[in-house]
Amino acid sequence: LEKATLQQIKEQNRNLVFKIIRERLNTSRAEVARISHLTRTTVSDIVSGLICEGLVSEVGTGLSIGGKSPILLSLNADARHLIGLDLAYTRFSGAIVNLRGQIREMVSRPLYSYDSDNGLQVAYEIIDHLMQVSNRPLVGIGIGTPGLVSTKDGIVINAVNMEWRNFPLGKLLQDRYQLPVYVLNDCQASAIGEYTYGDNYPAVRNMIVIRVGHGIGAGIIMDGQIFQGDGGYAGEIGHVVRVQENGLPCRCGNAGCLETVASSGAVLQRARQLVRCGHTLWGSEPGEVTFETLEKAFQAGDPLLRPIILEAAHYMGMAIANLVGALNINKVILTGSMTGFGKPWLDVILETANRNMLPRLTQEISIEVGRLKDNEAILGATALLANNYSFLFK
Ligand SMILES: [Zn+2]
Repeated sequence: LEKATLQQIKEQNRNLVFKIIRERLNTSRAEVARISHLTRTTVSDIVSGLICEGLVSEVGTGLSIGGKSPILLSLNADARHLIGLDLAYTRFSGAIVNLRGQIREMVSRPLYSYDSDNGLQVAYEIIDHLMQVSNRPLVGIGIGTPGLVSTKDGIVINAVNMEWRNFPLGKLLQDRYQLPVYVLNDCQASAIGEYTYGDNYPAVRNMIVIRVGHGIGAGIIMDGQIFQGDGGYAGEIGHVVRVQENGLPCRCGNAGCLETVASSGAVLQRARQLVRCGHTLWGSEPGEVTFETLEKAFQAGDPLLRPIILEAAHYMGMAIANLVGALNINKVILTGSMTGFGKPWLDVILETANRNMLPRLTQEISIEVGRLKDNEAILGATALLANNYSFLFK
């Protein structure tokens, strides 16, 4: 064997051992050897290396099944930290995340202007702050951004809200911070986050995660991997699924897109129209109508707002039926600000989706709200880095 190949095999074995330890709360050398089909000696050597790197610790002894009690091994989740950013429409958030997806520090900044320079400055501010407070070796920076993204070269092809066109975000950050940077679409990041750190892993292999916020997009997990499509834009359902003939104009240039009827931007626009026509949203003071006012008014049972929200849910349900019908993926997770409308919103989605699907499909499908409390895109953006083990080792 050539030297390079031997080195590759060594790295593969090391990654396999590390993966087995990482996926379990704790384990023993014997169990790792059994699962990995590597020899006890090889596993012991690799584990010694991982302990020296600080990535793994011995954490006591387990139950004996005859013979000596095994020494338990566990991942040192805080041996390395990652920085994750979610560049959402009106607010950028960033966090320091450890190797188990636990958030150690969180910061967010509102976005007052949408020119490309301001967006970049706010992202810098957040990362500067996180770099300053970080007290562990940093693996890299993961960014979830709206719009079309070429992940392999870190270029934001087109983010309408930020006026970013062919914007080399990855390279700018890499040059400034001297760390590996991953840039990916926020919905794809959300999908990776839910898949990696939600409760479904690893039993489920396929999953659709739909982010329903100011924009709408899906991240599709197939056989445990994010599916990006030929150009990297898979899941752009906010503008691909046309729901209305002669519908409202959309920011993408078309009309009647799903985003014009089912997004938080769409319901905000309709609620503001109500207010302009003299309606006072229940439980709110006169003044600017924000998404928070809508949530409050909806919970208070505002009779004019209710049908607006439920109609948005209806269109979402139709879009999900189409997507599930095309892909035959049974697990659908919803994230994003619209999930704030809770059970009534979700119920209409379920009912509409079921009514528009093949009866055979409705029995198997599960549609639910994500469990990561708006942090799923940040966690997903860092999970991609954390899963590339070559970044973890010196
Ligand atoms: Zn559109």
